Amino acid sequence: MELDLRELIAQDAGRVGFDFELDTDGLDFEGVLSYTTPVTVRGAVENHAGLLTVSAVIEAGLYCQCARCLKEFPRHLRIEAAAYLAEELEDEDNGDYYLLNDGKADMEEIARDALILNFEQRILCSEDCKGLCPKCGKDLNEGPCECREEPDPRMLTLGQLLEKE
Ligand SMILES: [Zn+2]
Ligand SMILES: [Zn+2]
Repeated sequence: MELDLRELIAQDAGRVGFDFELDTDGLDFEGVLSYTTPVTVRGAVENHAGLLTVSAVIEAGLYCQCARCLKEFPRHLRIEAAAYLAEELEDEDNGDYYLLNDGKADMEEIARDALILNFEQRILCSEDCKGLCPKCGKDLNEGPCECREEPDPRMLTLGQLLEKE
């Protein structure tokens, strides 16, 4: 989605809103099984005395799998994104700045980058998910399993030492 900002730039003030659906082709994340709604991107570009700022909210319904317990669950994703636009870049490496092409901004590129940057590395069903027992595979969120914990060999030595005294 290209946003034409030539008028906004000429005015030196004001805002231009946008609202579009992001193509999810290539947006595959570890732990995301499917998108249950389109990915929507809503926001505005504002011109503050020549400084062009983008603010956007990206939302989507996801069906995920927990990285620890492998449970599948639905999730609502909401990411707030911000970026700057410039007609030319002095520093090519500045990731917050996006180059305008003939007064037009590639909003898809900005939204895709924000999504990739803000997506968590490991999706969990809850932050304190206990995961599965590595021995018997039981879901430890449902309660403890029958497996005994291996005693720490250092503690064993200490126990034997105490016994001798
Ligand atoms: Zn889990
Ligand atoms: Zn177990």
